[in-house]
Amino acid sequence: EQLDRLQKVIARSGVTSRRKAEALIEEGKVTVNGAVVKTLGTKVRPSDRIEVEGIPLENPDKVYILFHKPTKVITSVSDDKGRTVVTDFFPQLEERVFPVGRLDYDTSGLLLLTNDGEFANQMTHPRYKVKKKYVAKLKGYLLREQVRQLEKGIMLEDGKTAPAIVKVKSQDREKNSTLVEITISEGRNRQVRRMFSHFGHEVVKLSRVEYGPLNLKGLNAGDARELSPHEVKTLR
Ligand code: URA
Repeated sequence: EQLDRLQKVIARSGVTSRRKAEALIEEGKVTVNGAVVKTLGTKVRPSDRIEVEGIPLENPDKVYILFHKPTKVITSVSDDKGRTVVTDFFPQLEERVFPVGRLDYDTSGLLLLTNDGEFANQMTHPRYKVKKKYVAKLKGYLLREQVRQLEKGIMLEDGKTAPAIVKVKSQDREKNSTLVEITISEGRNRQVRRMFSHFGHEVVKLSRVEYGPLNLKGLNAGDARELSPHEVKTLR
């Protein structure tokens, strides 16, 4: 969970400046979970109840970002090898956001980022079953029988997959290629790639084009926009 300095959290909530927040803390006018805290720089978490002169702070601002992740970008907030990570695209953002779930390095498409840990947990919890639609280009000719099996569920090494929605968009027997849309409600590691490689088809291009009710309309790779409160509500 994210920890932040108490005076920063107070300032960010808009009730007062950082300077004045520091003064209020030193004067003993700030409580965290009911206890007076006079130490500047005390770390607090989003779930902590903070009161300033007896008045509870509003929740710190929550941000929800819809990002069109390009390929060759790591779904992480840092990388020890110095490769580009998704948060590199938001240098000006005050809030420290993190990705909701993940897309592979070579996968492009719709990725949410937020500073709302509870929201992120909800979205990635298996019980939630957010539908995610992918467009995959296969090196291989997907057979009708294989489509049928994917729609029923197939046995992978980490268990049987839930029913998927599969739509072949185009295919070419001579070129040994298939363009297919697949919608799944799970989010296992490299799941789409593994579902097709179950039949010997390599995914050579993969993009997530929908996440629940959200899509990538108007966003090129590398672009992002904030979700509206209504969009956040429809996801929950
Ligand atoms: N399935 C995959 O195989 N890769 C992704 O990035 C997302 C879903």
